[in-house]
Amino acid sequence: MVRFVDVPNMRRWLVDTGIENAIEGIADTLVEDFKRWELFDKTPRVASHSEVGVIELMPASDGVQYGFKFVNGHPSNPARGLQTVTAFGVLADVQSGYPTLWSEMTILTALRTAATSAMVARVLAPEGATTMAMIGTGTQSEFQALGFRRLLGVHSLRIWDTDPHAMDTFERNMRPLGFDIVRATSAAEAVEGAQIITTCTADKVNATILTDDMVKPGVHLNAIGGDCPGKTELDARILHRGDIFVEYPEQTRIEGEIQQLDADHPVTEMWRVLRGEAAGRTSAEQITIFDSVGFAIEDFSALRYLDAALDGTDYFTEVDIIAEPTDPKDLFSLVAAGASVPTLA
Ligand code: NAD
Repeated sequence: MVRFVDVPNMRRWLVDTGIENAIEGIADTLVEDFKRWELFDKTPRVASHSEVGVIELMPASDGVQYGFKFVNGHPSNPARGLQTVTAFGVLADVQSGYPTLWSEMTILTALRTAATSAMVARVLAPEGATTMAMIGTGTQSEFQALGFRRLLGVHSLRIWDTDPHAMDTFERNMRPLGFDIVRATSAAEAVEGAQIITTCTADKVNATILTDDMVKPGVHLNAIGGDCPGKTELDARILHRGDIFVEYPEQTRIEGEIQQLDADHPVTEMWRVLRGEAAGRTSAEQITIFDSVGFAIEDFSALRYLDAALDGTDYFTEVDIIAEPTDPKDLFSLVAAGASVPTLA
């Protein structure tokens, strides 16, 4: 039997746990896993591109458990009443190869992306940052805001989205939670006075969400929307002014903002910063850029955290998706009755 977390159970777990608590718990698990980075079997995600989007598989293993996520990215989906990103994931036991957990991951991805962004910003953002600009207030945005509040104490948000409805929704969801929200009329206005800038837009183009003049010294950029070949958000001149931090260079050079740069442009891997082997922020004037694309180990960490949280609860059901005959060499016994159906010939 495999533990199965469907959307209703994910909702129940989150309502009872609290979204900010879950993000913090995932962030703690991320730190543990980033610190043992070299133990992981890892690879850039396997992507199948189409005109309108991408479908990806994201595997990783620590030698004890194996995990993968199925995820899509279709920026034109909301216009058809569909989500840009949906996902599900699996954990398996490396010793037997059997799956142990199967979970919805559309919500879990939003949690793990917020946890990753905030966990990284806690190390790179300027000391005492309380104000964040958010460019793009779609699906991921509320989770980002909650993650930054819990891990950094950010409570003041300056928002901009080309879709007024997305800003309405964000304000409706976040104002009751005590955020101080300023609704800007452009990206340039949104970034004024912000110590952290999150770009979280979705368009399968090389967009320029931020121009060079909008990024002042000392700012931390949390650039999460550019995550696919031909899909970026930042003016390349910003990348030349700042220090760039990444998850897994082999994947980020294909998918991240740095696809705009030479293949040998220096970047720092976040796991090295978390281990104290590489510098993070070194001065108040430094521009730090987290060129986030989303990496398989983050999904592994989120699934690992969820799996532990399920112990002793009823936030899951069990599904019978492993065909397991009593005699492991007699799979036929499970379906033998089908052989007795008379054939016409
Ligand atoms: P979404 O479609 O729900 O929201 C994107 C928002 O961006 C929309 O509200 C849209 O109106 C707005 N937008 C588009 N162009 C804009 C522009 N030029 N200026 C301002 N706003 C603009 O998508 P989402 O699920 O929130 O995801 C956002 C992006 O983040 C996607 O590109 C997705 O692929 C990416 N993403 C990255 C990670 C990661 O780990 N790095 C994880 C999840 C999603």
